Amino acid sequence: MNRPDAKHQERFNLRGGEVVDVHINPLLARVMRPDQIEGVRFLYNSVTQLRSLMPESAGAILADEMGLGKTLQTIAVVDILLRQCCYFFPKRRSTVEKVLIVCPATLVRNWKLEFKKWLGDECRVLCADENTDIKSVIYGKYEVLVVNYEKVRNHSTLFSSAKFGLLVCDEAHQIKNADSQITQALDSLRIERKILLTGTPIQNNLTEFYTMINFIARGYLGDKAKFRKDFEVPITRGRKPNCPFRHWQMAEERSRLLQKITAPLLLRRTAEAVNRRLPPKHDIVLFCNPSPLQHKIYTALASLELVNFEQLATEPKLTGLERILLLQKLCSAPDLLVDDVHGKGKTGKRIKATIGAACDTVPRVKTRRSQDSGKISALLKLLVGIRRKTDDKVVLVSNFTMTLDIIQEICESMRYPFLRIDGNVKPKTRSGIEHEFNTSASKDCFIMLLSAKAGGQGMNLMGANRLFMLDCDWNPARDHQAMGRIHRTGQKKECFIYRLMLSGTLDEKIFQRQISKMGLSDALMLTQEDSNLAEDFAEEELRDVLRYQNDTPCSTHDILQCPCGGKGILLDDVNRLFQDRTPTEEDEDEQDSLPGFMMASQVTEANINRKVKETRKKLASLFDWTHHNFSKAENAVLTQDEILNYIIERDAQSESTANNGDGDEPFSSSSKPSGAILYVFAKQRRMLYKENLKEDISIEDDDESPKTKALMRKKAEMNDVI
Ligand SMILES: [Zn+2]
Repeated sequence: MNRPDAKHQERFNLRGGEVVDVHINPLLARVMRPDQIEGVRFLYNSVTQLRSLMPESAGAILADEMGLGKTLQTIAVVDILLRQCCYFFPKRRSTVEKVLIVCPATLVRNWKLEFKKWLGDECRVLCADENTDIKSVIYGKYEVLVVNYEKVRNHSTLFSSAKFGLLVCDEAHQIKNADSQITQALDSLRIERKILLTGTPIQNNLTEFYTMINFIARGYLGDKAKFRKDFEVPITRGRKPNCPFRHWQMAEERSRLLQKITAPLLLRRTAEAVNRRLPPKHDIVLFCNPSPLQHKIYTALASLELVNFEQLATEPKLTGLERILLLQKLCSAPDLLVDDVHGKGKTGKRIKATIGAACDTVPRVKTRRSQDSGKISALLKLLVGIRRKTDDKVVLVSNFTMTLDIIQEICESMRYPFLRIDGNVKPKTRSGIEHEFNTSASKDCFIMLLSAKAGGQGMNLMGANRLFMLDCDWNPARDHQAMGRIHRTGQKKECFIYRLMLSGTLDEKIFQRQISKMGLSDALMLTQEDSNLAEDFAEEELRDVLRYQNDTPCSTHDILQCPCGGKGILLDDVNRLFQDRTPTEEDEDEQDSLPGFMMASQVTEANINRKVKETRKKLASLFDWTHHNFSKAENAVLTQDEILNYIIERDAQSESTANNGDGDEPFSSSSKPSGAILYVFAKQRRMLYKENLKEDISIEDDDESPKTKALMRKKAEMNDVI
């Protein structure tokens, strides 16, 4: 750990203790990863003010993604503070004497178990459950007291008299509201050092973020009104999916600035950032051909005129949001619509009032056939490939239990052994199922069927190394959470995350919105709860979302206007394409543009619609992915996934026997089978490594430093390997 400088000594070492080195307990250091040690250093330096001196209290927010070991890092810091102090006095060796850990009631015992697990009996931890009488224990002999938030709220006077040296708040978004009783009670304890732990620091809005920062460092972000004006308003405005480009740009700029300002107080690492220690992960987005039935129903639903919003108040018709939900279900499988459309209830009536004759396109009974869903057909092909060529296990995630039901039936008929966790499985039995899945061989348990809602809470499914997302959520953070179930510390195998989209449909629109939002959330991990989605859609926007674009294998790639032609080339290659070209006027016009844009603007119409250009910039991060157009047989097989290659190759073969066309015909979805994989976006490990290295190097200003040299060497080695 760092040593105190002169200023620190002047303020904190009035009695002239000897300055000594402070170390992480060897018991813990032995098992910790470098990123965790880094985290301990960050927390220690923050709460002891070794990084920078604070006027009042000192604290930090540890916002690492779930699964990276926030608890272990915290225990290591608590242990240091209880046993050591950088100013040594023979009679008082510790920095603090008592630590208060506040967490949700369900986690109280867990903290005690974790202390026991890592430190054995070295640390005296007292756990106060619901029935504990705080009065009788608060002055007792313990070093760490773990309580739930309610206890602190109800007995704040008692707690403040017990003089704690460090406060740890787990799941700290509990204190997001400055006016809540919990926040006020915690504030009244006047504890000098504070650590906040959370996996998602900004859940709903930036006011909460402000409250959290203000809680650990009062006044750090200035007064609330100014913060609102400078950050909250512009950033929130730029997060709306239909906002003008300049708002989006301003939001990007401000969220980066805010990130920079709060960096000394906040540490956030994603699983991706520590990836170099995990096996590689491949993100693969599969754009699949809809089934003929899906195509028929989608065409009927999408061609309806929009109901005017004012009309809605008087007529019992569907809102735009309800229509979106119907389409989302349809993208999963037509069966999901049967009850809604032909049901006798209120919804059924409203659907009939809105879509009229289009009702007849939806079958009256569930077909339960895999070939009626493009995504399930594609999934099935991949499952067969995985089963045949590997001994990998698989997790299948869906938002809809009925989709899981359909797949479950398929598993039964294919004799694929499976387990299932959905909302009906009690939390108590969940961990047993998790354990069974992770420990059994793939021949005994091949598949885990998981409902997205049940899968969010700390679930570990590391036994699998392939995961399929069957539908995507408007909130990228939620999808991300589900994907994190398999790629986490301890995973030994290379991981493949497949996201299945139905080409040309709402799936693509959601994906595009996720990507344009991710720009912001990367910068400040904004995760928006999209409950007010309907209000966010302007009429024009809604029309766009509901449009069915089945004349192209991938409308997302069309929007990018990428010059790769779907041949699977990487950003580097795109850059090379431009190198010899002299810039044109239009290039200068787009100085901040990204590779690919200039060329595209040259080849396409001279005057591209401004809106399209802007959307393209919002999707710019997709240039880090490779794009493969598999709707043309000659593009087959270029990915890093042997299973996908195997499927694509087989698809291509069966197609070339089916038709002997010259391949230049315009795309037609109806000429392809249900579930044919038309397009693939894949993020490869090569890009990932480069990104990480770039970050590392940029920290170093001095080019001659040994660290930079070592990194350059490492980079060269990696390039060799790949
Ligand atoms: Zn491309």
